[in-house]
Amino acid sequence: MGKQIIILNTGGTLSSVMKENGLAPGLTTENIQRELHMVSGDTELEMVDICSLDSANIFPEDWAMLAEKINELKSRCDGIVVIHGTDTLAYTSSMLSFMLQNINIPIVITGSQLSMGNPIADAMENCRCAIHMAASGRPGVYVAFNRKVILGCRASKVRSTSFDAFDSINYPYCAMISSMGMVLDDKAIPQKSGVFKLENNYSDKVFMLKMFPGIHRSMLKSILEQGYKGLYIEGYGLGGMPFLKHDFISELGELTRQGMTVLVGTQCRYEGSNLSVYETGLKSLENGVLQAYDMTSEAALTKLMWVLGKTENPDEIRDYFSVSLCGEVSIKV
Ligand code: ASP
Repeated sequence: MGKQIIILNTGGTLSSVMKENGLAPGLTTENIQRELHMVSGDTELEMVDICSLDSANIFPEDWAMLAEKINELKSRCDGIVVIHGTDTLAYTSSMLSFMLQNINIPIVITGSQLSMGNPIADAMENCRCAIHMAASGRPGVYVAFNRKVILGCRASKVRSTSFDAFDSINYPYCAMISSMGMVLDDKAIPQKSGVFKLENNYSDKVFMLKMFPGIHRSMLKSILEQGYKGLYIEGYGLGGMPFLKHDFISELGELTRQGMTVLVGTQCRYEGSNLSVYETGLKSLENGVLQAYDMTSEAALTKLMWVLGKTENPDEIRDYFSVSLCGEVSIKV
């Protein structure tokens, strides 16, 4: 008998149809299943409807619900494919990587740039890649797109219209499909580091800020006053932030002293941040910020939400950010 794969549909372009007000999710699971038999090989597919959303409408509670659903279904299949809109797909794949650490089957998230109903779409190719990765026997959370498999916590949407919409950021691909078939890179697939336990708590008191010349330090005070507990900042380059005319960094020190967790990364997509190089970085470290190193912004933000859902103890929080939980970060010392 072929492998059993469950497909969870959450919506996005892949299952969209043209409606009165523009492209919106609308294909039923029966429509999708009918098409997928062409790419499923000898796997047995079962479809489960979760929701039918443009992924701009995905919120953290949807991640918690999806993780719970995957936990419920995991014992009766060999792998799970999640169909998802591409716009927030990398946030979902990152958060599921934390919530489903040490899962014992592959969970593969995919979507497409054109709807399955379009004859020139990438939808079938992406589903083919996702189904075959889900049947690969390599446990973990992945993104399958454009004949490549990316570790879920390393994916980022980098192009808005090309079929090559996702990159694997600062990390090798886990698998690629070519005339050689699906070639897996087992070195890029993190080993399980413990026993699986669903951990789908999160904090929604997390804010994300992109640094820009002219940003006012008063912004930081208002983030604190609004009750946020965590702040992820996309700094410049290696993680730089201003400390002269507008002393943003001392203001961050105020925040960390009042119990806010401040995580600093970079707005550069590739090669990551390192606060130990420049004066500005070292000043930030003196003011109690944590480093995101080479994490994607999607992974940094969702890790912060996930960690703050587990603990508010500053030492424990620091410990979580000094290790890689599921392959999301390379720590530079
Ligand atoms: N707006 C769509 C979504 O994220 C885009 C897509 O799926 O490609 O749901």
